[in-house]
Amino acid sequence: MDIKQKVSSRTQELIDLSAKHLLGVASKVGDYPDIVYEDGHGIWIRDTEGNEYIMMDSMGACYNLGLGVQEIVDAAKEQMSKLPHCFNRRGMVCPATIECTRKLVEVTPEGLDYVSFTSGGAEATDLAFNITHRYFASKGERRYKIISLYESYHGFGAARWSSNRVTFDKENWGPPGAGFIQIPHYHCYRCMFGLTYPDCGVKCARYLAEVIEYERPRTVAAFIAEPFLGGSGYIHPVPEYFPIIRKICDDYGILFIADEVQSGFTRAGKMFCVDNWNVKPDIITMAKALAAGYFPIGGVAINDKIYKALKGGEWTELYTFSGHPAACATATAAMKIYVRDRVAENAAKVGKHILERLKAELSDHPCVGAGSITGLGMSIGMDIVADKKTKAPLSLADRQKIRREMRAKGLHARIIEGTGQSRFMIYPPCTTTMEEADKMLDITIPIISAIKPL
Ligand code: PLP
Repeated sequence: MDIKQKVSSRTQELIDLSAKHLLGVASKVGDYPDIVYEDGHGIWIRDTEGNEYIMMDSMGACYNLGLGVQEIVDAAKEQMSKLPHCFNRRGMVCPATIECTRKLVEVTPEGLDYVSFTSGGAEATDLAFNITHRYFASKGERRYKIISLYESYHGFGAARWSSNRVTFDKENWGPPGAGFIQIPHYHCYRCMFGLTYPDCGVKCARYLAEVIEYERPRTVAAFIAEPFLGGSGYIHPVPEYFPIIRKICDDYGILFIADEVQSGFTRAGKMFCVDNWNVKPDIITMAKALAAGYFPIGGVAINDKIYKALKGGEWTELYTFSGHPAACATATAAMKIYVRDRVAENAAKVGKHILERLKAELSDHPCVGAGSITGLGMSIGMDIVADKKTKAPLSLADRQKIRREMRAKGLHARIIEGTGQSRFMIYPPCTTTMEEADKMLDITIPIISAIKPL
């Protein structure tokens, strides 16, 4: 799987054009992209030079079904030729949007039976916050505070400065909006309380109650969290965490918003990650793999309690492309495949195998954080450190070197390059087979094994 280094004139021209006019592709404004992807099949993506790479990041947790799924392409094509867009508003709607709604309600956790669509994840976060405020307003309550986690990521929407505290680019955040509060995350390996599980009694979850008391319960509206911390490096909570959170939210009458934008649609070995603990949020936000990456679409699902409170009131939350028919047809096709092909079960089985191999072959390595390898289904992460004792993260240069080495061997991998963290993440399509998983591990493990401590 060694990658050819040559760059054709076509590729060079594309790279030059991108650097000149396209913002946000390379990590620094004006930088050149170093790869141009063109097509692919299954878990493989191909660049303009014909090199193939395994998508160990599913292109941002989107390609949960891999590339080249003809059923999804056909569904999109058919809808595009009939009615690509419909302004689902003021009494107007179309069959594709209604079909997608029906399918989505079938797969969301029981009781979350009402959905509204957006174009992506950040809009879904904003919508969830709007619904929260509307919910309390309809009950005549003036609750406005929203609590989130350090190291969380909820998108670059209007609430971006306020609910995000993701690993990368911390220095440029802020100041947070009034009414937004962060509490310590659930990353055991870097516990902000300095405690050790299970003696800690899951303090990070119980601390939510302390903060609500301190802030005055009648002012707190919602707690939002990712079921695993995606943007900060695939960090997973202990199994008790979210059941405790659910109870605290119930005790104080605050809404629990699960941000499943990255963890939804079979990624964590269940249709939604919270299904692993049988926890039912009041609101779920989703996007990314809703249409398996074939179309941009996001949305929220809300429960009966919120629906009843909102019923009869105005719904002014308007996105032009809400329930976009072509996106919805694509999402419906993807959801049918998730269910029919038992994709969550495959993710659970193959993900467990990956996790077990990593633990068996890397736990003793001087640069792999002790006990830091965590996973749920096809969402796996580990801390790569420069010093096992101090837990100092690997230097940025070394992290970039790993990424380059992986790329040279035909693996498209992600290692967090932010502040204070160095999580290596493995999240290939949820359809990855055992053989494909072994193939990527047979390359990955030697690269990580070769890292030298400080
Ligand atoms: N929420 C989570 C958990 C995410 O991981 C992301 C994106 O990575 C978002 C929200 C934002 O989604 P989008 O990039 O579609 O706006």
